[in-house]
Formats: sequence, C-alpha cells, structure tokens
Amino acid sequence: MNLLACSQIHMKNLIVANWKMNPNSQKEAKEIFDAIRDGVKGIKSEVVVCPPSVYLYASVFGEGVVVMGGQNIYFEEKGAFTGEISAEMLKDLGVEYVMIGHSERRKYFGETDEIINKKIKKALEAGLKVIFCIGETAEERDAGKKNEVLERQIKIGLRDIENLKLKIENCAIAYEPVWAIGTGNNCSVEETKESIDYIRKLIPENIKVLYGGSVKSDNSGAYIKDAGANGLLVGGASLIPEEFIKIVESAE
Ligand code: PEP
Repeated sequence: MNLLACSQIHMKNLIVANWKMNPNSQKEAKEIFDAIRDGVKGIKSEVVVCPPSVYLYASVFGEGVVVMGGQNIYFEEKGAFTGEISAEMLKDLGVEYVMIGHSERRKYFGETDEIINKKIKKALEAGLKVIFCIGETAEERDAGKKNEVLERQIKIGLRDIENLKLKIENCAIAYEPVWAIGTGNNCSVEETKESIDYIRKLIPENIKVLYGGSVKSDNSGAYIKDAGANGLLVGGASLIPEEFIKIVESAE
C-alpha cells in the first residue's frame, strides 16, 4: 500500500449538507436540523450542515454532534460592506466550516477564481475550515477542457496559502461538475474517479476530496467506495432528513 492510500484510509469522511436558500422559516430549519442531528448519532463521518446564515445562530440549532458551516463569507475583515458577513463573525458564532467557490456563487454573483482565493485565505486566517468547490460546466467538458479548468480553479484558488503558512489541510475540495448540480444527472462513478485522481495530483495528500452533484442515497455509497471520494456535498437531498441520513449511512 502506498503512503497516499495509507493517509487517506485514516481520514474521516466528510458529509456536507448545502441547504442553499432554503427553507423559508426558522421552524422548518429547526425541524430539518433536529431530524438530521438525531438520525446521525453514532456515525463515524463528520457531518456538516450549511444552512442560510440567518439560521446559523446557536439558539436555533443548539448543541449537537453535527457541525455547522456557512455558505459564504466576504473577503474583508469588517467595515462598509452592506449585506456581507465576515469570517470572524462565523467563527465567533461557533461555526466551523465555510463553503467557498460554489458554482452558484460563481455564476450568479460573479465570483472569480481570484475572489475565491481571497475568501479562502480570509477563512483560514480566521480559523475556519473551508469546503472549496470546483467543477467544470457542460460546455467546458464537451470542449475537452475539464482538466484545464480544474487545474486553473485549484491553482488560483489555493494560491499563496502555503507561502502565508495558512493550514492548507483545513481545506477540503468538493469536486462538483456544474452540469450535475441540481439536475438529477449525477456524474458516473468512473468519470468521477478519473477527475478525483486528477485533482489529487494537484494538491497535498492531506486534503480531502469530496464529490457533489445530484447525490442521492441510491448513488452515494459508490462515490466513497469506488470513486475514492473522502466525502460528499449534498444539496437538494440534504433538506429531506430521511434521505440525507441514508446518504450519511452509505458513507460509513
Ligand atoms: C450543491 O448544492 O452543491 C449540490 C451538489 O446540489 P445537488 O445535490 O442538489 O445537486
């Protein structure tokens, strides 16, 4: 067994719930969260729930085995940036993770690789762990540019992190083909394995690589067992507690 395989065997799987801009009330958020927290007790994987930031406050969720994550931060520390939230604010709330670079942020909010790099550095400086999302669009894949895109996103996104002595191992990469997100058209296990193997060549070996894109309980286990992912990023299915709990169980 090579060293890479050895170190990855000892990594805990990381299962992330991305609720996006859902649900519309605190009551529903608490119901979904409580059902997930109760359903994953005793699970070996680390489970992170990323609700909208208004639901991150401890009084909504209370203590539990599930770790909280934000869906976004701004790259400045504080000041006149109306509507934004800082890494320090999340850290102060007791939030452990933040998602950065999600394709919906890139597409609807104009986030470039450079902006994403600034956000990742800010999050790590504040002591947050980062779920760094990357992935190619359908057009990029069809044009045979997938690996080029993944390499560019990783190189710029993680630029200077080691030079600044920030903890790169506190980043996990979520490989999410854009065409697979929210479409029901999940990436095949074979193609995911190829992409994950490619990504691993570009990053230090102590970084986890997750898969995301239309994960459901009937396809989730194979990404861990056969594609070599260290976890999953789950969108739509994470709002349905029974389904999300099955996904978490499939990764055990
Ligand atoms: C996501 O939100 O990153 C995601 C993968 O969504 P879905 O699981 O709904 O495809």
